[in-house]
Amino acid sequence: MGKNSNAAGSENQILFATGNNGKMKEIKRILEDLGMEICSMKEAGIFIDIEENGTTYEENALIKARAVAACTDKIVLADDSGLEIDYLDREPGVHSARYMGEDTSYTIKNANLISRLEGVPEEQRTARFVCAIAAVLPDGRELTTRATVEGRIGYEEKGQGGFGYDPVFYIPELGKTTAELTEDEKNEVSHRGKALRLMKEALRKL
Ligand code: IMP
Repeated sequence: MGKNSNAAGSENQILFATGNNGKMKEIKRILEDLGMEICSMKEAGIFIDIEENGTTYEENALIKARAVAACTDKIVLADDSGLEIDYLDREPGVHSARYMGEDTSYTIKNANLISRLEGVPEEQRTARFVCAIAAVLPDGRELTTRATVEGRIGYEEKGQGGFGYDPVFYIPELGKTTAELTEDEKNEVSHRGKALRLMKEALRKL
């Protein structure tokens, strides 16, 4: 496939390799002060299926970023993230999106997690969201960053914001689930917010 270059100057553009609208919204907000145009795969007209067969978040993020970088001259960023529940041996982990099937609703996935933790006391309900960000630059250089946010699995879904497992991810210090936070509040504390800010600093230093 030919590289999808752009007369507007691809060095000032970042393509974020995700098809998830919830994530894209968060990412645009976090990276807006970088002074670069942030576009999605859809906006760049890149429609490819990427098999995420890595065993770590970093590997999967790099697989996605490399695959998209092969189709564009822009800087490509990709993330891979997941929810680790200590009581379930860190499940669903790198398989978070595929847990119970990619097309299963999060109402069902969240209800399933709550039922698997039935009777488990508060102090054993610890969990974290993990996020790795990978960057592939037009000259082939690669960077990765990683961050986490610690919390607990709640007893019922709470909140309307965010996406995915947010309604069951409770942050004791805030007394709220990540679905009860505003977008800015979530970005401030989230795994993705922190990993993206680390990536932003790494890109600024280049
Ligand atoms: P990825 O697209 O392969 O990174 O899949 C990550 C999956 O982890 C998502 O589809 C969600 O199931 C879950 N996940 C990651 N970050 C979040 C978050 O901020 N809130 C809720 N769920 C998340």
